[in-house]
Amino acid sequence: MAEAKPGTKSKKSKDAENPPTIDIYKRWCKGCGLCASFCPTGALARDEAGYPYVKDISQCTNCGWCEIRCPDFAITVRKQSKEGRKKDEEIKETGEKGTAPPG
Ligand code: SF4
Ligand code: SF4
Repeated sequence: MAEAKPGTKSKKSKDAENPPTIDIYKRWCKGCGLCASFCPTGALARDEAGYPYVKDISQCTNCGWCEIRCPDFAITVRKQSKEGRKKDEEIKETGEKGTAPPG
């Protein structure tokens, strides 16, 4: 078996450090299961009623198949940059919700 060179990281380990966020809009989802069926890594699974859920986000490679295949625009994959994740954490900590519109 080939070993990785010291100091190098595979794509998967990099994604595992900074996995994307998957949003499932349950009001739009009809539970057809296409997203989970097309997910090549098993990051998505279906519950007992057939609706998708994120089973293991660390398995997600951000390939986008689930989003592309959903006929109802009910699932989105958002790649998380380190900066974006940091900002999300800041917003959670401070409760910041943006500024009110003028007037
Ligand atoms: S982006 Fe790809 S790997 Fe991630 S949940 Fe969707 S289909 Fe699965
Ligand atoms: S493909 Fe879309 S509508 Fe079908 S189960 Fe997945 S999220 Fe729901």
